[in-house]
Amino acid sequence: MSDDLFKKVVSHAKEYGFVFPSSEIYDGLGAVYDYGQNGVELKNNLRQYWWKSMVQMHENIVGIDAAIFMHPKTWKASGHIDGFSDPMIDNKDSKKRYRADNLLEDKIARYQKDGKTNKAEELQVALDNATIDNDLAKLKSLIVEHEIACPISGTRNWTDVRQFNLMFSTEMGAMAEEADKIYLRPETAQGIFVNFLNVQKTGRMKVPFGIAQTGKAFRNEIIARQFIMRMREFEQMEMQFFVRPGTQKQWYEYWKEARMKWHHKLGFGSENYRFHDHVKPAHYADAAVDIEFNFPFGFKEMEGIHSRTDFDLKNHQEHSGKKLQYFDAELDENGKAYGNYIPYVIETSIGLDRLFLSTLCASYKEEEVGEGDKKDTRVVLSLPPILSPYKVAVLPLMKKDGLPEIAREMMQTLKLDYNCFYEEKDAIGKRYRRQDALGTPYCITIDHQTLEDKTITIRYRDTMEQERISFERLREILASEISWSKLLS
Ligand code: ATP
Repeated sequence: MSDDLFKKVVSHAKEYGFVFPSSEIYDGLGAVYDYGQNGVELKNNLRQYWWKSMVQMHENIVGIDAAIFMHPKTWKASGHIDGFSDPMIDNKDSKKRYRADNLLEDKIARYQKDGKTNKAEELQVALDNATIDNDLAKLKSLIVEHEIACPISGTRNWTDVRQFNLMFSTEMGAMAEEADKIYLRPETAQGIFVNFLNVQKTGRMKVPFGIAQTGKAFRNEIIARQFIMRMREFEQMEMQFFVRPGTQKQWYEYWKEARMKWHHKLGFGSENYRFHDHVKPAHYADAAVDIEFNFPFGFKEMEGIHSRTDFDLKNHQEHSGKKLQYFDAELDENGKAYGNYIPYVIETSIGLDRLFLSTLCASYKEEEVGEGDKKDTRVVLSLPPILSPYKVAVLPLMKKDGLPEIAREMMQTLKLDYNCFYEEKDAIGKRYRRQDALGTPYCITIDHQTLEDKTITIRYRDTMEQERISFERLREILASEISWSKLLS
């Protein structure tokens, strides 16, 4: 059933203009996707939800928009040049490349499906240990020992496991000789670290304070999986919160809770989210946790919260030779100023595309409607209205008698505050269904009575109920129901 739901969501996304494969006329490009006319609206609204809650609702958090290209030394200092890699393995017959850990994870899932719980647990422990120790030979031996075959060729003719750096590189400069290798950023965080002092000084920010940004990141993922779950070009929304050394644990707990609350507010069911603690956090962190969402293919990471210590600022200070310190004039319990230090950092990092996917999966519903001969299934996206691509669909009942004109007039006023959709083609039932599939919370129909008394029929997406109301009443309903306060307060 879950598999089924996922397939339906993927085809719905395509059919209704939410997500298309990139350069589809050339048969697409692996793990790269384009957002269509409705997808871009939903994505913008999700980004805005994040931005409003993280930046505009916090006086001590400000935003930036750093460039994708950064000085190559950035990636040396951050550890990405030396350490940002995944273990890969090739099948010599099919010439297909896989992530070694993914092959083993799939095997664990198969053991579990077949009721071989002991074997699954045993392999999980071995995989965890090999991953923690970065033991490539062990990963290979587990693949051999558990007789894992290539899904394409069916053979077990494997290469050794090697590390594969996930950063894309290109050259900067017009002439090849002058070319200098630069990277497409694999995370947005470093743009914030290198601007730490610029923002702190010009914004007169006092620790604790945060810097946030949203933007594209690029990773040459070895294999693409699960639609927009794992892409080679994706968007991150990150916030780095700079704190006094020694207070990181307390702020880490604070942000864990705040971020989980943010997800719950979407109304997709708190049981669909869970924390997953990292037993051994990455080299730059002293604590890390994922917020996982219950996707149709299981609980998977949607957001990471990391206590990054002073790792990044310290390394940038070392590699750039520029002091990246903060002067804290406040007094400690002994009456002495805290003085100069490199702040510690708590990071919250969420993938916008994964958030988009979770939103589609959670709001996609198929409902039986009608009775007898009229029995039918409707597909509806039960999105929180503030996130819907369109808030109101304006639908004149007929294409004559001045109905389109008055409908356009009403739309002209509504458009100033709400994204509206206008449609006059097809039977009204069909038009309602199309709006349900886009998640439009309100449809209004304009008929001959509208010409007389300016009343319209409002149709509610979730209940499918209809009522005749005045245009003023419609505006009242929209004002109270389509408000950021529903998600932010
Ligand atoms: P994963 O373990 O799934 O590869 P990660 O731990 O490498 O993810 P982070 O580096 O912590 O991810 O990045 C923060 C967030 O960015 C993730 O929680 C995820 O939502 C998003 N993200 C990371 N890689 C991708 C990708 N290839 N495609 C889409 N979103 C991604």
